Amino acid sequence: MQTTGFAAYAPDAPLAPWSFERRDLRADDVALEILFSGVCHSDLHTCRGDWGPTYNPIVPGHEIVGRVIATGSAVTAHKEGDLVAVGCFVDSCGHCDNCEKDLEQYCRNGFTGTYGGRDRVTGDPTQGGYAKHIVVKDHFVLRMPEGLDPSKAAPLLCAGITTWSPLRQWNVSAGTRVGVIGLGGLGHMAVKLAAALGAEVSVFSRTVGKEADAAALGAGKVVISTDAAQMKAAAGGFDLIIDTVPVKHDLNPYLPLLDVDGTLVIVGQVGPMEEAVTVPLIMGRRRIAGSLVGGIAETQEMLDFCAEKGVLPEVEMIAMAEINEAWDRMERSDVRYRFVIDMATLEG
Ligand SMILES: [Zn+2]
Ligand SMILES: [Zn+2]
Repeated sequence: MQTTGFAAYAPDAPLAPWSFERRDLRADDVALEILFSGVCHSDLHTCRGDWGPTYNPIVPGHEIVGRVIATGSAVTAHKEGDLVAVGCFVDSCGHCDNCEKDLEQYCRNGFTGTYGGRDRVTGDPTQGGYAKHIVVKDHFVLRMPEGLDPSKAAPLLCAGITTWSPLRQWNVSAGTRVGVIGLGGLGHMAVKLAAALGAEVSVFSRTVGKEADAAALGAGKVVISTDAAQMKAAAGGFDLIIDTVPVKHDLNPYLPLLDVDGTLVIVGQVGPMEEAVTVPLIMGRRRIAGSLVGGIAETQEMLDFCAEKGVLPEVEMIAMAEINEAWDRMERSDVRYRFVIDMATLEG
């Protein structure tokens, strides 16, 4: 199938139109017309080679909402016309212990990224959601529940599940004290999802003035992280802190804020951090953890939860041709809180 998208032709090149092929349907494949595609920091980092070299051209995008236009002969879970979604990965080995536990993201043999990966059958580079169409193995295609606005839901497929998974792993429920560091694409979903689970949510901010934004998302409190008195007053007051900051930073101010057995889970920065002092970890059996997106079953659970509770990302819709400007703005954190590309604007 011939399709079109926006691709990076080189690590330092702006995204530009590209016409390319999607594979013929295998028996267990689903073909989608992409309606909406979310814009994630990972798209920019991958295309620019920040996480290591990649291939070119590369089409980014792993927050995909679309409509099924064709299915392979063995597909039963999806049919033509269904609204569906695709997230950060499109395949895994399917038979290791983690795949069997619905933890495809931790597949022993490596998951296949929606872009920046290699097809497990042909070895061809995978190409993501800044495109008109995509072909994905049925197991990795999510059902879009009734009542979830497809024009806003796309960021749930990365930002949503990346914050949902640790909230579930650490059993966040009514009364759990949750802190969120960083109020961007991931952070704003962490606040909304934790609040919808009944948690008492606080946002950490370096500057004054985020109170109204944080409250609108569901946070009860803002703690100014540069204010020593406020940080001291917050000591021991959190069961779980979700750290969404996507660059190298210092965890030391946050560790004493955890209660005994509390956990700080990193979902933003992939790479080095400032040196951490172990004293608060040892003195309070506190933990630093990491978490990578979530499995397919867990992603479906999150979509169903969001439909039931009316949780949706805050998005700014853009046309495909505005993507380079949107990346510049995303780098400056000048977006509340996620860009979504209306793929209808790719026509012609
Ligand atoms: Zn992402
Ligand atoms: Zn596996």
